[in-house]
Amino acid sequence: ASLPKREADLIARRDHVLGSSYRLQYRRPVHFVRGEGMWLYDPDGRATLDFYNNVPSLGHCHPEVTAAMAEQAGRLSANTRYLEPRLVDYAERLIATFPSALDRVVFTCTGSESNDLALRIARLVSGADGVIVSSYAYHGTSAAAAAVSPNLGDAVKLSPSVRMVNLPGPSGIDEANAAAFFEAEVRAAIRDLDRRGIGVAALLIDSIFSSDGVWLDPPGFIAGAVEAVREAGGLFIADEVQPGFGRTGSHMWGFERHDVAPDLATLGKPMGNGYPIGAVVGRRAHMDRFGATARYSNTFAGNTVGIATADAVLTILQRDGIMENALAMGERLASGLDVLAGQSDAIRAVRHAGLFFGIDIGRDAMSPGERRAMALDLVNLLRDDGVLISTCGANEDTLKVRPPLVCEAAHVDRFLEALATGLQRLSA
Ligand code: PMP
Repeated sequence: ASLPKREADLIARRDHVLGSSYRLQYRRPVHFVRGEGMWLYDPDGRATLDFYNNVPSLGHCHPEVTAAMAEQAGRLSANTRYLEPRLVDYAERLIATFPSALDRVVFTCTGSESNDLALRIARLVSGADGVIVSSYAYHGTSAAAAAVSPNLGDAVKLSPSVRMVNLPGPSGIDEANAAAFFEAEVRAAIRDLDRRGIGVAALLIDSIFSSDGVWLDPPGFIAGAVEAVREAGGLFIADEVQPGFGRTGSHMWGFERHDVAPDLATLGKPMGNGYPIGAVVGRRAHMDRFGATARYSNTFAGNTVGIATADAVLTILQRDGIMENALAMGERLASGLDVLAGQSDAIRAVRHAGLFFGIDIGRDAMSPGERRAMALDLVNLLRDDGVLISTCGANEDTLKVRPPLVCEAAHVDRFLEALATGLQRLSA
C-alpha cells in the first residue's frame, strides 16, 4: 500500500532539513502522536502494539513517572554542583541494587556517554589503551563509543587499539565448550594487544550480547574471559544499557546472570523510562583514581528533573513486581514460540532471558541473504499488522523482540498471533 499523503509529505520535508545519516524504520514508516502502556496511537487513533521498545520499560508515558518529571520541571531544574537531597537519595537507592563492591555512581545523559566515561576511567586506571569487544557489538555514538562498536561498520577498523572477539554461539560452539572458547578468544586478543605495546584497558561487553543476536547462554560463560582481562591489568565494563533494570526478569543487572561483578557498569535507556538519563556505577578505587586526576562535568547529567524521573522509575520497578512479570511473560512468550517453531521451519532457534528475545529466522537451505530478507519481510508484515519489532545479529536475520516489561498475557498472545500470521503469509 502506498503511503498516505500526510506521511509522504512529512518524509519529503524531513529529507530537506535532516542530515542524511537518519534512517526511518519500516518500509511504511510509523507516525504516532500518543503512547500509553504497551500501545502507540497514530493520528487517526489506530493502536499499534509496541514489542520493540526497551526504553519505556514501565510502559509508554507511565502516569506516575510523567507526574514526577513534570512536577520537578515546574519547580526547579538545576545541576549536580548544588546540594540536592534527592540526588543523594537516588544514588544510595541505585547503588543498593548492585553488589557491595560497586559503591560509587556518576551520572550521564545517555548510554553512549556512560560508555565514553567508562572507557576514560578504564584507560586512566589501567594505563593501557586496548579495548576488547564482541564482533558485532554496539556501544554508542560518541567518537570513543563508536570506535568500539563493530556494528557501525568502519569506525572500529580505524581504531588500532580495539580487538573484536567471536562469541561461542554464533561460532557454532556448544554450551559445554562456550566458556573455554570465549576465554581463549579474549586471551588471544590480550596477547596481540600486549605484543603491540597497546595493553588492555577493558573488556567491554553487553552480557546478553543483544546486537550480536542475543547470545546469552550458558549463564557464566564470560567468567574466565573476565578473569583473564583482570590478570592482564584491564577492567571489566558491563554495558547494562540493554539487560539492565530488570529486562532479564531474573536479575536487576545482566552481569548477575553470569555471576561476575564488573569493575564498571554502564546504564542508560530504561533508567528514565524515556527521559535521557544514564550512569556509570563502579568500584570506589577506580572512581577515586579517576577523580584524583581527571575532571568530569556534564551540564545536564544528574539534573534535578532527570533524578526525579529516574527515582520514580526505580520506585515503580521495585514496588510493582515488574521483574516478576517480565519473568512470567517471558516464559509465556517462550512457550508460545516453541509451539510456533514446531509448526514452522522458518524459525530456526529462539533465545531469551526474561523479556529479551532473539528469534533466528530462515530455513536451513536458505542463503544468509535470503534469511536476512525473510526476517526483514516479517518485521514489515508485523508492522502492517500493528505490532512493532526489529532485527539484530551480524546477518540481521534474528528478530529482536523486547516489549516493555509491563506487558500482559493478552499482549503476548497478540504478538504470537501476528508472528504466526506473518510466517503463514511468507510461506504461502
Ligand atoms: N550500549 C548498548 C548495548 C546499546 O544498545 C546502546 C543503544 N542502542 C548504547 C550503548 C548507546 O545508548 P544511547 O543511544 O543512549 O547513547
